[in-house]
Formats: sequence, structure tokens, C-alpha cells
Amino acid sequence: MSGFSHVDVRNRDVQSLLLARVRSAPRSPAFTFLVNGEEPLPTIDYAGLDAAARARAAVLVGRGLRGRTVLLAYDGGEEFQIAFLACVYAGVIAVPTPVPVRTGALRRTTHIARDAMTTTVLTDMSTRERVAEALGEAATEDLDWLVTDEWTEPADDWEYREVEPDDVALLQYTSGSTGDPKGVMVTHANLWHQAAEMDELWTRVEDGAVVSWLPMFHDMGLLFGLVFPVFTGMPAYLLSPEAFVRKPVRWLGAISRYRATHAIAPNFAYERCVSHISAEDRATLDLSSWKLALSGAEPVRSATLAKFARAFAETGLDPNALGTGYGLAEATLKVSGSTPGRMAGTLWLSAKALQEGHALPVGEAEGGLPAVTSGRSQGDTVVRIVAPDSAEALPEGRVGEIWVRGASVTKGYWNRPEQTEATFHATIRGEGPERYLRTGDLGFQHGGELYVTGRHKDLLIFNGENHYPQDIEYTAEESHAGLRVSSACAIGVEGDGAEKLVVVVEVDEALLASVGVAELAAGIESAVWREHQLAVHQVVPVRRNSLPRTTSGKIQRTACRLGYEQGGLKLAAGSREPAEVEG
Ligand code: ATP
Ligand code: MG
Repeated sequence: MSGFSHVDVRNRDVQSLLLARVRSAPRSPAFTFLVNGEEPLPTIDYAGLDAAARARAAVLVGRGLRGRTVLLAYDGGEEFQIAFLACVYAGVIAVPTPVPVRTGALRRTTHIARDAMTTTVLTDMSTRERVAEALGEAATEDLDWLVTDEWTEPADDWEYREVEPDDVALLQYTSGSTGDPKGVMVTHANLWHQAAEMDELWTRVEDGAVVSWLPMFHDMGLLFGLVFPVFTGMPAYLLSPEAFVRKPVRWLGAISRYRATHAIAPNFAYERCVSHISAEDRATLDLSSWKLALSGAEPVRSATLAKFARAFAETGLDPNALGTGYGLAEATLKVSGSTPGRMAGTLWLSAKALQEGHALPVGEAEGGLPAVTSGRSQGDTVVRIVAPDSAEALPEGRVGEIWVRGASVTKGYWNRPEQTEATFHATIRGEGPERYLRTGDLGFQHGGELYVTGRHKDLLIFNGENHYPQDIEYTAEESHAGLRVSSACAIGVEGDGAEKLVVVVEVDEALLASVGVAELAAGIESAVWREHQLAVHQVVPVRRNSLPRTTSGKIQRTACRLGYEQGGLKLAAGSREPAEVEG
């Protein structure tokens, strides 16, 4: 094990960290993959991780890939971790992507490959087989598939190079909620600072362990399932997203079995646990070790967190472990997060004041709209609320665009200088030349904490008043017990010279057969009128799982509006015509 001696452990990058761990605790467990979310494969320790990464890195360099971009498409298993670290060792820019097993997904992968200027895809044997089986060899011919778990030849004489903090470590493609995914250039320094901030906020435990099923092609999955464990030295237990979605109890089961302290996920996952875990399965769980159950990456619903806390109270789950976080790929991952040990706080806001851009707390009983805290920023990250049109800073209690500055803010978009300029180099009117990232999200600060209200692009304006689609969607979904969570999409369409509200909603065939379109539409209309004093122009029932969504499950409202306008929505059977509720 020669070659470490010249590495300065104080260098702030993932390679230095990993090497420091290899030196100080070579036999500490790093990653354990759970097959089907249940049966553990042999654990890989830090020495094993380093040796495997060196072996892959030597091949990458031998193939002339240093300084180039390569896609990483892995189904599960710790081979992703190894390949990513091999890219770090070899100075290759990693571009994590979903595994394409359908034609549409393959189109997305080739789009990303073209955008990232590569044809090389790193994968493992089983993933490669799965792709070929699903799509046929010919369909995937345009890409050059390299199977990294075949590269096991030891590279004992590997020469470690120092990592330049400002070099790009990876391209993180955004989810594509509002348009085409864009490649965010994340540097080695960004990864370090992000992990340090996560650690500062969340790691206050001895003997912690991480459990994650989050996809590695998403910023939350990569940071939480790879960088954070290496940074903190916590062992990580990994399962595939598919294993979780099929049987959510596997996630909580792993937390229970391995006495995990840290496990985070988007809102839908908590919802899924409540609806898909039986009382019998619940009784087998001991969740008392869980210190940080964070909800982030998409809007957080206070009702979901409360439901989750109630449903799993008998497992010893500490309700104060439930927290929230807000972030985006352009800021590496997290911008702000709530402190563990304090249940995420909810404010009830005056709907009237919110429509005019003021966050005015009222009582829950007074019919306020819930807003969940996204906590505070850490390290040198600064959050400001700014009027999107005038670039003027706004005081606490005013709603505006969320602007961010700090070491976690990335370098910009790959190959998109104009968009980088517009998004990453904003300055606040009347303040110095300090550059801010414009997040495109709206929010406000209250008591020093950040509350996210929604995306600027999705904001609905009726009669000069601002409405957030997710508030209307929530009301629509709650209007009938047969409707599911996150099944509605509220959009504004042009009609008679004014913007009109349309609610597209996914419905089960059975529900439509028993309730009927007219009754369902009337229920949604009266609930939206009651809660928001808004007239619904149309309710459009569509087939289950047919709303346009990102690979991470987020609703794409712009795509939905286009689908509506161009007649591309998949109407539910029995609803040949969208229901006209009101002229
Ligand atoms: P694209 O940028 O391609 O349209 P995206 O914005 O969904 O897609 P990501 O960077 O993966 O891509 O997601 C970040 C976005 O997710 C944020 O800008 C915000 O809109 C939303 N988000 C994240 N956390 C929260 C939160 N706690 N509350 C509300 N929204 C959140
Ligand atoms: Mg975005």
C-alpha cells in the first residue's frame, strides 16, 4: 500500500478523505448493498473500496478518458460507488444517469450523453444485461458500454494525483421539472463544502449509520448515499429505488435492523410508507435509533409528516427526528435544513395576504394555508429573498425569489454560458458585486428560517392574485377519499383573454365507474372554491400514472399544460370529454 504518503489529508476533497480513512481505518465498513432491499451482500471496507477504485481508475486512464466526461448508469450494488470514486482518482468527470430500460428513457440518456459530449457509459454486468434485454442490443449501439466490474486487475502501483478543488468532479443533471435537464458543473470543492455543511447540521451521534435507497443519479442520492458516508465515516446500507418502491417496509426494515441514525427521502416516500406498510409489518419495526428522518427535494407537506409520525409512533420513532430540507442541483444539494431534535415547524398563513406576497401567520383554525419550514443555511451559505423583477432585497415576511451564495453554489451549467450568466451571476440592487444563484423558487423568511412557497415558473395568477399550484392540488386531492396523494396538477390556461384554472387529476378506473366524472369534478370545484375562492374552469380526469413526471417523480406542470393545449393528455376511460364545470 504505497503511494499515500504524499497525500495531504487536509486537502478538502473526497479523494483525500477516502485515503485518510484507508490509512486510519482500512477495515471499517463503508458500503453494504442489500439485494431486494433485504439480503446483504458482503460489506466493502475502506481498503477494499480504494483497491477497487484504483483498479477501475487505471483502466479509465488507460483508455484515455482522463479529463473527459462519462455517463454512469448502475442499477444498484456498490459498483456505482466504486466507479464514481475511480472517476475521482482518474480525473474523469462523472455524469450519473438513470438506467435506460424503456425507449423514452434511452432517448433521455442519449440526450444527456450528447449534451455532456460523450458516448461512453460505465455500467456493471447485471445492468448491462438488463438494458440489452429490455431494449435489444441494436437500440443501445450508439453508446459505448464499459462494464466496470470486469476491471478487477489490481493496480498496486497506481499514482495518486492531487485533486484540484476547482476542477469539475461531476455533471449533475437537474430533474427536468420545468424543461430539459441541464448539466450542473459540481466541483470537488462544492462536494466537500456540501458534505461539511450536512455534517455540521446533522451529525451529532456516535456510532451512526446511513440507510439509503435514493437513486445515485440524483443529487440527494449521490451526496447522501456516497459523499456523506465517506465524509462522516458512517457505514452505509444501500438498497435500490425499485426495491423501496415495490415494498417500502424494506427501507424502514433496514433502518430497524442496522440501527440506522440517518435516512432521508422526498415527501412521497413518507406518504408511501404510511399507505403501503401493513400493521403486521409495522409491528416488526424498531425505529428508535433514527435521529434524522429528513424530507426534502420536493415540496414538503406538513400533513404527511404528521401522518408518518402518528403511523409509526408505536415503533419508537422520535417525532422530533422528522426534519426538512430545501435545495437544488445548482447548489450541489442542500441550501437549508431544519435542525434535528425539533419537529419541523409549520406556520399557518393568511391566504389573502399570501396572494399579495406577504407571509402573515394566522391560526390554523382561521383557515390558514400551511407552510413548512426548510430550516436555516449552514457554513458560509447565505440565503436572501429578492424581488424577481427589480432585484431588490426583501425583508422578512415578504415573498420573493430565493437567492443563494456560498461555497456549495456550483460553477454553472455545462456548455450553457448564457443560462449560467443569467442564473448564477445575479447581483442584488444597491449591494456590491457579490454574485448570487437565482433558484427560480419563491419563498420567505420568518424568524431566520426559510419557507419555500413554490416555483416562480409554476405560479398561477388569477385576477392579479398569486396562487400556488400545490395548494390547489392538495385541496383537489383531499376532495374525495378515492383520489391519491400527488395525483393532481393545477395549471393556468388562456381562455377568453383571461387565465383560467384547470385541474388535471389521475383517477382509477374503479373510482370513475363508481363516482362518475361529473360528481368528481363537482367535488373538486366546490372544494377549490371553498378553500381558495377560485373558479375551476375544467377538471380533466386522466389515467393513473399518466401525468408527466420526472425520473424522481416530480410533476412537470409545463409539460402538463402543453399536453392539455395540444390534446396530448391520456384521458381516463369513461371521460371522453374533459368535464366542463363552469363557463
Ligand atoms: P429542473 O431544474 O430541471 O426544472 P428541478 O428544479 O426539479 O428540475 P432539482 O435540482 O432536482 O431539479 O430540484 C430542485 C427543486 O426542487 C427546487 O428548485 C425546488 O423547486 C424543489 N424543492 C426542493 N426542496 C424543496 C422543499 N423543501 N420545498 C419545496 N420545494 C423544494
Ligand atoms: Mg431546477
